[in-house]
Amino acid sequence: MEPHLHYPPAADLRRLLRFEPQSGAIWLGERRMVLLHTAALSALRRDLITSVGTEHTRRLLTRMGYASGTHDAGFASKTRGDRSLEEMFLVGPQLHMLEGAARVTPLHLKMDAATGQFEGEFRWDDSWEAHAHRLAYGVVDEPACWILLGYASGYTSAFMGKLILFKETRCGACGDDHCHIVGKPIDDWPDGDAYRPYFEEHSLLDKMDALSQQVEALKTTLEPATSGGMLIGNSPAFQHAHDLMKRAARTQVTVLLTGETGVGKERFARALHEHSDRAGGPFVAVNCAALPAELIEAELFGVEKGAYTGAHAARAGRFERADGGTLFLDEVGDLPLPAQAKLLRVLQDSEIERLGAESPRKVNVRMVTATNVNLDEAVAQGRFRRDLLYRLNVYPIRIPPLRERSTDIEPLARHLLARFTALHNKRLSGIGERALQALMHHDWPGNVRELENLVERGVILAAQGGSVELEHLFPNQPQDRHEGVDPQGRLARIVPADHDALCARIVDSGVPIEQLEAQVLALAVERCGGNLSGASRLLGLTRPQLAYRLKRQQTDEPAD
Ligand SMILES: [Zn+2]
Repeated sequence: MEPHLHYPPAADLRRLLRFEPQSGAIWLGERRMVLLHTAALSALRRDLITSVGTEHTRRLLTRMGYASGTHDAGFASKTRGDRSLEEMFLVGPQLHMLEGAARVTPLHLKMDAATGQFEGEFRWDDSWEAHAHRLAYGVVDEPACWILLGYASGYTSAFMGKLILFKETRCGACGDDHCHIVGKPIDDWPDGDAYRPYFEEHSLLDKMDALSQQVEALKTTLEPATSGGMLIGNSPAFQHAHDLMKRAARTQVTVLLTGETGVGKERFARALHEHSDRAGGPFVAVNCAALPAELIEAELFGVEKGAYTGAHAARAGRFERADGGTLFLDEVGDLPLPAQAKLLRVLQDSEIERLGAESPRKVNVRMVTATNVNLDEAVAQGRFRRDLLYRLNVYPIRIPPLRERSTDIEPLARHLLARFTALHNKRLSGIGERALQALMHHDWPGNVRELENLVERGVILAAQGGSVELEHLFPNQPQDRHEGVDPQGRLARIVPADHDALCARIVDSGVPIEQLEAQVLALAVERCGGNLSGASRLLGLTRPQLAYRLKRQQTDEPAD
């Protein structure tokens, strides 16, 4: 022990401790304490380790000790404000002993309040925590005096006004006959950063939150791209379509799904399949527009060996593969006329004939078709059979475009965000306000599919841990208005370079600039319902500047 490291008498600290059995309270100075059984604390420790694991338990208990140490640091200057810095500091180890943590012997102490320099080494004998850990788990590899160590770090950090990290270099839990601790500023430890999480709060909750988000996202990716998974929406237009789908599902009726490209027709078809009594059977989807006309019949109806050059083996078509289930024909309007004739026969007789086959085969297939073209027009133009349309159009469901269900955009976007953050292994806090607003105001020519693409790109472009912002969703869009710093260093609206075109048009129009200004000012004032302050903000002027310009025009007018 260094010569200056003798404890001053602890009478000043013992005086702080008051038992008040009548009022049921124990006090250390102005702070209420409790007497706990170490056995009870040990049981809590074990329960924590069992329920949340060693790492999280270590963090929680370190933080608990840290809080005690921080509070006790308040007694240092209160009780020994007139003593040397070292004697003041030793309030901590002495209180720690008084509180029953261990027998603490200071070995080395070097500190400087001005520079924040700190070195400390202490020996702990009979640490209650080392004893409890060893009793529960036997001799372990890692030191285990987490609460005590948290206390040392908390006390010293509060005393020094900066984070001081204590580590155990020996521990009774590891089989040593005493514990030995060393402390210095966290930045002076080469591996200090690895210890920071022990002093941070909410890490466990954050972690659990992130995990549950991942689970949610995984659930939706596992839902066979399919089931109700992406049928999200509470808007009346969407609910109406959804309702029609569910009511048709339990019947055998032939359903025709209409709607713009990207509205989710295949998802509706899958959902219909899964709500039907064929859910256990196959769901087979064919995009008629994606198959070459000369292959489509072979694809749909199958081929017998030798039916044509190159048909080396017999092959079942999609109808046969969908037997007992649902066949979804997307973009049915693109089906060539010969294939339409065969399709009609299937619908009439529930029979298909493979190419080159001698006889038909029975199939039990529920058909759902979809189109984004107007089939009535196609009929009028002779591109689609009228009799087939009547067969297909028994139960039409129109899926509304995204712009007709704008209240669904936000929930859809959040759902997609969860899915893509999991897919791309990102952790994001959400979608920014401005980005969300831009999504709400977009007109969505590509519908839900476009939204999917935008959100996926946004997730990829957003910074890890950040949120999806406007520029991540629409990276190539000129930002019409944004705030920047003007040449005078004031916050101002910056006019982007692509206003060149606007300027060129103004010059080409030959409208006198005075007249143009008058019209611009009048328009701004009108938009703000006559409110000059609002109009001046729109124009990037101060209110007096706007008033001046308006006034100037009024006085100019009679001169014209
Ligand atoms: Zn220990």
